[in-house]
Amino acid sequence: MLVLILNAGSSSVKYQVISPEERRVLAKGVVERIGMSGAILTHKKWDDKEIRLSGEILDHKMAIEYVLSILLSKNHGVIEDKSEIDAVGHRVVHGGEAFSGSVLITEEVMSEMRRCIDYAPLHNPPNLKGINAAMQLLPGIPQVGVFDTAFHQTMPKHAYLYGLPYTLYKRHGIRRYGFHGTSHRYVSERAAIFYGEPIEKLKLITCHLGNGASAAAIKHGKSIDTSMGFTPLEGLMMGTRSGDLDPAIILQIMHKEELTPNDATTLLNKHSGLVGVSGISSDMREIEEEYHESDRARLAHDIFTYRLKKYIGAYAAAMGGVDAIVFTGGIGENSSMVREHSLRDMEFLGIKLDREKNELPSKEEREITTPDSKVRVFVIPTNEELVIALDTMKIVSELKKN
Ligand code: ADP
Repeated sequence: MLVLILNAGSSSVKYQVISPEERRVLAKGVVERIGMSGAILTHKKWDDKEIRLSGEILDHKMAIEYVLSILLSKNHGVIEDKSEIDAVGHRVVHGGEAFSGSVLITEEVMSEMRRCIDYAPLHNPPNLKGINAAMQLLPGIPQVGVFDTAFHQTMPKHAYLYGLPYTLYKRHGIRRYGFHGTSHRYVSERAAIFYGEPIEKLKLITCHLGNGASAAAIKHGKSIDTSMGFTPLEGLMMGTRSGDLDPAIILQIMHKEELTPNDATTLLNKHSGLVGVSGISSDMREIEEEYHESDRARLAHDIFTYRLKKYIGAYAAAMGGVDAIVFTGGIGENSSMVREHSLRDMEFLGIKLDREKNELPSKEEREITTPDSKVRVFVIPTNEELVIALDTMKIVSELKKN
């Protein structure tokens, strides 16, 4: 089976062609600057080098058309006919309370997704554009939606409700939804295999640290709490997002700096976090390069790791213990410094980091604690596209059986 994975953002479409049975990526790429001048398609066939093409791409439909044409092309393609694509798997950011797992996209599902636009006004509309375009360009080919929020739908009410008037939850759906669910699910399943115990017996803390960052408490295979909330702004400090703060600060700075709600949203989402504190960069590599040179880079790094440590402690408490901690995402997978600093002085919890193992650069799944560490720590590269491909295959195979 061949699955086309689509991740449609506001001005980009990322794609992969995956054979889920073989767990193999045949081609992948991204179309960027959709609707702007100088759109670029970057494409890589598995056994070829990366190519870059530019053109005028006005909307998501044109972008996906362009992707299909390169997938069909003689030199860089991987299929001879569109019908070789058996299904399309879409990444959808927000599934609200309606979706606790991946689903076949029907008219009903689409209208439920449209209802979730309120919760993710920046993300769900482009996701829907991608779905509409794929349906038009690949008619009759089943389309599956995989939601970032779905895995966290198992959270109990006391974890997902805020200390706000209950009517706001009822009226406007104000609650914690959580994000990065596909990644937390994938790395927790891989961690259980690495640990050698069924996931139903384990208490895991997964830390997805990329440009966006979140932690999750996964008890017996179910997400019972996660750091991102109603939107992906809450929780850990991130590249450009503030993470947790006193909500009164927002009102205060809006007043003092004469900011509109839009200005405040931009400040919290784009100019805060690592870049806001350091004044240098939102990129962890650059922060680490400046760690010993710049006080503010050090401060940004220290806030990042201190807050992560607090979440690890909180989730160990929430689950009544922890068997393993998982690091993933660009920072989690690559920054030995972030892992070391956030796990520093955690021997009381049973964490004994093996500093040498932590330093070894590797793209493989690995353990970075000593053999006598009560809590094991793993570094597990995430693979959200593979999860989308596997979910899509499962749903489509069942469809064919019926
Ligand atoms: P996204 O959330 O956009 O998918 P990624 O998961 O790719 O992002 O993570 C990007 C982050 O990973 C950036 O802050 C980048 O600096 C960081 N990163 C990548 N490699 C390293 C490294 N070797 N050391 C430290 N940070 C790294």
